[in-house]
Amino acid sequence: MASNLTAKELEETLDPQDWDALRSLGHRMLDDMFEFLEHVRLRPAWQPVPAEVREHLSQPIPIEPEGAEAAYREFKKDVFPYPIGIHPRFWAWVHGTGSAGGMLAEMLAGAMNSSVHAGEQAAVYVEQEVLSWLKNALGYPAEASGLLVGGGSMANFIGLAVARNVKAGWDVKAEGLAGAHGQLVVYCCSETHSSVQKAVEALGLGSKALRYVEVDSDFRICLEALRNAVLRDRDAGRIPICVVGNAGTVNSGAIDDLSAISGFCRAQDLWFHVDGSFGATAAITPTLRRLLFGIEEADSLAFDLHKWMHMPYDVGCALVRWPEKHRSTFAYQAAYLDGQERGLSAGPIAFSQYGLELSRGFRALKVWFCLKQHGLRKYQTLVEQNVAQARYLGQLVDTDARLELLAPVSLNVVCFRFKNGIQDEARLNAINHEILLRLQESGVAAPSSALINQRFAVRVAISNHRSRREDFDILIREVIRLGEEVLGESQHT
Ligand SMILES: *Cc1c(COP(=O)(O)O)cnc(C)c1O
Repeated sequence: MASNLTAKELEETLDPQDWDALRSLGHRMLDDMFEFLEHVRLRPAWQPVPAEVREHLSQPIPIEPEGAEAAYREFKKDVFPYPIGIHPRFWAWVHGTGSAGGMLAEMLAGAMNSSVHAGEQAAVYVEQEVLSWLKNALGYPAEASGLLVGGGSMANFIGLAVARNVKAGWDVKAEGLAGAHGQLVVYCCSETHSSVQKAVEALGLGSKALRYVEVDSDFRICLEALRNAVLRDRDAGRIPICVVGNAGTVNSGAIDDLSAISGFCRAQDLWFHVDGSFGATAAITPTLRRLLFGIEEADSLAFDLHKWMHMPYDVGCALVRWPEKHRSTFAYQAAYLDGQERGLSAGPIAFSQYGLELSRGFRALKVWFCLKQHGLRKYQTLVEQNVAQARYLGQLVDTDARLELLAPVSLNVVCFRFKNGIQDEARLNAINHEILLRLQESGVAAPSSALINQRFAVRVAISNHRSRREDFDILIREVIRLGEEVLGESQHT
């Protein structure tokens, strides 16, 4: 039977039979996506996924083809209308807002389908070039090694893994923690992001080995308390290995005294890691870099490109000041991956020796493309613009007697609440909680929340290149309107 068929009929491929049809669908998709991005301001800042759509999105795996046209129709109906994080008044968590150029670069990378573990391929050179741009832009030493990763969490993991292996004092790679002659301890302030604890746990150190040091009134690590904690652990026979400094905490955007931590770490022979997931981005601007003084001394630095640099999700970066220490933490030998001096397996670097992943996407392309498209100066301006907008919002809050700032505005995060002269803290928390939910559900604006000294704050994290000043006027107007609405209801019941 088969002998009557040509090879072309027998052998399947994922390539389309009708290239023209797929090409025309592709062009339509591009038009639709540009249409969406151009007019995103007219959409709600957020909307929930309706129950009916959730049901559409829990169907069994398709066995037979539905076709690209049908898949795209379904995407437009059930997926596309419910994004988060693109709107000019989206200020929840610390969310990047992407860009049209970044979207195109994702498509280009998709076509190339490179796996950037090693090898003689352009993608490896692009990642090297991008890493050297980033070191330069942040003022970090050019000889540092680095790696693009999925985000700040993975970048924190990499920094802490190197810290553990370097400072443990035995061969952790071979012996594991069974070689321990004392508990390894890591220090950070109480405002530190949960990804640091996750890394400490995944590295086998245990969350009890993470000391949350108290903060001062500006939410910066208290250096005296840090020193005491380290000395106490040493006296008890434990082994302090690392201090994590914050360049921009999630709650309030506070920046630790990085230079002082660095000095302390050197004196105490500790690894100095900085979580700069969003805040390190401020170091690309000459005006804000002084706030982060000392960041360039970090032994390792984690930061994100998908947050305040607006590269499409996902991409973050881990930098390590000591390339050999970085490499020896993750290096392995495998004959099937050995580099050669010529041919396909030549190439300048094996990125897979610097992190957990072997196959890795071409994340570098979107960074490369966007930086070429816009130039660093544009990103500097956008960061400064957001910081100025945060100060502006801080002033709007400060000058309105009905509102109250709950933390100093150190960078691009503003935490405030509707106060209206009310003294009862529990009642204030309930009112502001309700204001926040109504604000999100109205689709007008989408901040998130924070607990600042047990006080519920409306938290506005401004890493958004689409926000304009008037967006903050709208926010304040809505918070006050909703606050009065909620108050009015509670007085009637
Ligand atoms: C977002 C964030 C992280 C985690 O980064 P991801 O990219 O979400 O993995 C860590 N620390 C801080 C301060 C952050 O804001």
